[in-house]
Amino acid sequence: MRRKLAAGNWKMNGERAALDEIGLLAALPAAAAVDVLVCPPATLLAAAAERAAGTALTIGAQDCHHAPSGAHTGDISAPMLADAGARAVILGHSERRADHGETSETVRRKAAAAHAAGLVAIICLGETETERDQGRALDVAADQLARSLPDSVDALNTVIAYEPVWAIGTGRLPSTAQIAEMHGHLRARLADRPGAGIAAGIRILYGGSVKPDNAAAIFATPDVDGALVGGASLKAADFAPIIEALAATG
Ligand code: PEP
Repeated sequence: MRRKLAAGNWKMNGERAALDEIGLLAALPAAAAVDVLVCPPATLLAAAAERAAGTALTIGAQDCHHAPSGAHTGDISAPMLADAGARAVILGHSERRADHGETSETVRRKAAAAHAAGLVAIICLGETETERDQGRALDVAADQLARSLPDSVDALNTVIAYEPVWAIGTGRLPSTAQIAEMHGHLRARLADRPGAGIAAGIRILYGGSVKPDNAAAIFATPDVDGALVGGASLKAADFAPIIEALAATG
């Protein structure tokens, strides 16, 4: 049985005042079958983890370097994130793939580093609009999946986030049939590698313009184990109903 996961990606948003939103989310009653994770910018990680300590809310990061330490100015390693209180790290987000030239091979090395540091790797993938229009969405996502997964993957240390690039921050959504087709396809590819047993336990999240008013329909879609939420995770008043919608799927 896979636990549902509502994960918030704050991206490059939030200064100390935003910790009040962490406090509000930490005060929500824990839903028995739902994990809630917020990934603030690195500058807020330690303070956010302190606010969430002793509650059901967990805190994650948005990227890590593949090396544990060294001469990499401006980078942050997976052990550093864990030391700051992170329990997970988002990797391979389309904004990093586009803005920083990250390839799936880069993502695989980072995911291995995350696993070695005891972090859950949330591996993001998804097609561009052109790739979908060309009928290549399933193949593109499967290729990203195969290349991004390190050998250290297991059912609990890895989460896949299917995020069609054209749906991120745009208010546009794939149909639930398209989401179901993609999630089923990714689950089948996971059964090829790392194997059926692990594939059955890996959570596959949908991400891209999830809002309070569309969350229930997305969460009712087969093989959707939760969501990676950008804009609507910045305010507890928006994220809380999404968490509730997930909890209602039972
Ligand atoms: C994201 O950045 O991962 C994301 C899904 O953003 P949004 O929810 O704002 O589309």
